[in-house]
Amino acid sequence: MKRSILLLFLYSACTAQVQTTSTEVSAEAEISNQLGGAVLWYQNSAEMKLSYYQSYQYAKMMLDNKLERSRLAKPAAVVLDIDETVLDNSPYEAQIFDKGETYKSESWHKWTEEARAAALPGALDFVEYAKSRGVEVFYISNRSVSELEPTIKNLKKEKFPNASEEFVMLKSETSDKTERRNKVLESHTVLVYVGDNLTDYSELFADRDKNMGKDLVEKYKDELLSNFVMLPNPMYGEWEGAIYDNNYGLSDDLKLKKRKEALIK
Ligand SMILES: [Mg+2]
Repeated sequence: MKRSILLLFLYSACTAQVQTTSTEVSAEAEISNQLGGAVLWYQNSAEMKLSYYQSYQYAKMMLDNKLERSRLAKPAAVVLDIDETVLDNSPYEAQIFDKGETYKSESWHKWTEEARAAALPGALDFVEYAKSRGVEVFYISNRSVSELEPTIKNLKKEKFPNASEEFVMLKSETSDKTERRNKVLESHTVLVYVGDNLTDYSELFADRDKNMGKDLVEKYKDELLSNFVMLPNPMYGEWEGAIYDNNYGLSDDLKLKKRKEALIK
């Protein structure tokens, strides 16, 4: 009798374990599956290509306009983010989608180590244009400082100017880019910012508590349109964090639930 109770207990424990694991896996797989749609758009749509060209054309016009109109006290500069701004990491996103996984720092570092992200449409042309007009180019990215070497290697491989420690500013402690932007502002007047996240322009937009941050875009619309060029990234970003109440530590089940709840029907 005692033995059968023990066996029953062990069987139940194992079943519970299997069930928990399989639910967890399927939530991750479903989130990964949703990523697939975004990756397909990013990699295959001609619309994505034109969006990037158009955005970088806008960046050029913004730069021209400001160079003509402003008397600058300091040398002019532009500040660009790296990932999904100048370099295309969608093959990494495709890899994790293919495996039914979501972002993990280990798989990401393995990808960046390969230094084979391609230049995005219009990016190289824009930074070369800025350089030709005597404007300095800075890259401020939330890749970790431990990724500096392969990042510089990748930028060089894609022929980006200023691919050196002086101009590539990665994350050491905080993902808040304010301090790094201020460092550039000490010596330069920044005329144009380019990125795929609003926080590539200002940390103010990390606050997504109210209406997913859309109210802030409304409030600062004129300023954003004058200084910042926004690129499309449907694969990941602050927008996704906003859905999770800025808590990436939530379980995959809860993340999936919040994704479904966030849909406007
Ligand atoms: Mg980015």
